[in-house]
Amino acid sequence: MKLRPPTLFIKNYYKRCYSHKFTQLPQERRIRLSGVLMTGAIGVSALSYYYYSILRQQQSQELSPTHFIPYKISHKIDIDPSHFLLELTPLQRQKVNLWSQMGSEHLWSVEVKQPEIMVVRSYTPLPLQVDENQRELKAIPDGSNGDGKFALYVKQYGNGEVARWLHRLPLGHTIDVRGPFVEYELPKYEGEISRNRDFLFNDEISSTEEDKFKYQPFDIAMFTAGTGIVSALQILLTESPLRGKMHLRYSCGSVDELGPLKPFLYQLHRYGRIDLQVLESSKELNVAKRQQKIWDQIPSPTNYLGPSNYLGPNKISIPVLALVCGPERYIADISGPRINLAQGPIGGMLKAKGWTEGNVYKLS
Ligand SMILES: Cc1cc2nc3c(=O)[nH]c(=O)nc-3n(C[C@H](O)[C@H](O)[C@H](O)COP(=O)(O)OP(=O)(O)OC[C@H]3O[C@@H](n4cnc5c(N)ncnc54)[C@H](O)[C@@H]3O)c2cc1C
Repeated sequence: MKLRPPTLFIKNYYKRCYSHKFTQLPQERRIRLSGVLMTGAIGVSALSYYYYSILRQQQSQELSPTHFIPYKISHKIDIDPSHFLLELTPLQRQKVNLWSQMGSEHLWSVEVKQPEIMVVRSYTPLPLQVDENQRELKAIPDGSNGDGKFALYVKQYGNGEVARWLHRLPLGHTIDVRGPFVEYELPKYEGEISRNRDFLFNDEISSTEEDKFKYQPFDIAMFTAGTGIVSALQILLTESPLRGKMHLRYSCGSVDELGPLKPFLYQLHRYGRIDLQVLESSKELNVAKRQQKIWDQIPSPTNYLGPSNYLGPNKISIPVLALVCGPERYIADISGPRINLAQGPIGGMLKAKGWTEGNVYKLS
């Protein structure tokens, strides 16, 4: 049987509509018909406008960098006098799954508005939500966006405006949030499979089976201090987390400042996702000794050569990139100061270990 070419079908259809429109009718039928058509047209326009405004309203309720949308403080966990965790839930369920969209290739933040003094501050969302039954922090599973919920780990400073204001807000209070803003982008290998993170959902797993990637994963180093650790945790805990290993250097007063985030850090270490060094100033008061410990464990950089076929897990860890995140003093010691919010030349310990502008990035 011969198939009719689609163009012919379209032409015939067009002809049918065309001839029907111009067939003469008796006058009173024409008047009745034009009334019906008019009412129909108004109805159709009203309906289209109605659906258009619903669509616009729905779109404007999706998290966007161009406008603020309301989020409710759904949980608040005080860790110590300076650190706390917030779970934020959007008033309107979010359709977009930012965790799968961003993956571990994008480091992203959101902005929170303080309406009284009209300033915004950036915060780094974590793919975590509070389990209603056990009142524990749980990772948001693959394929879900938890309806748009996320967690923020925040430090308040003595004279800091926004973090102190955030901390004072009661449970259920609504705050305005916009984003996402991409702070850094790692190379994305098109068609690469996701990395599993089963161990986050099942404590019984003794070790995770290695994923059979298409391309050889690359390792990175991250130097973080204080709340700077959230940048590392975001790409380690998100859906399809970092495929290579992270050399994570974490400086803090005490690791207990992490509160409910601490078990996640040790889980990541236990399952080989990170090579962890924690430097607690409460345990080692001497700054020079702490710096010596960081220095001793700074890996040498490796040239990034782009994608190559997967040959199995990296036998020797080979970081191709160093990201630095923390207070200005810390950034300066590790990698040289940022200048006027720009990167500035690479200095500090990383420069002395052979790292350069080409493989170091200072996060803000
Ligand atoms: C991309 C990005 C992501 C961020 N993510 C987070 C996050 O997830 N969690 C978080 O807690 N913060 C995060 N920050 C920092 C955050 O945006 C605010 O700067 C911080 O909450 C302080 O704001 P504030 O209004 O309370 O203090 P401000 O009023 O801005 O500062 C007042 C004083 O507080 C002190 N202070 C402020 N920031 C620091 C600092 N970093 N180190 C030392 N002293 C400081 C200084 O004495 C300063 O003069 C992020 C910043 C950026 C740019």
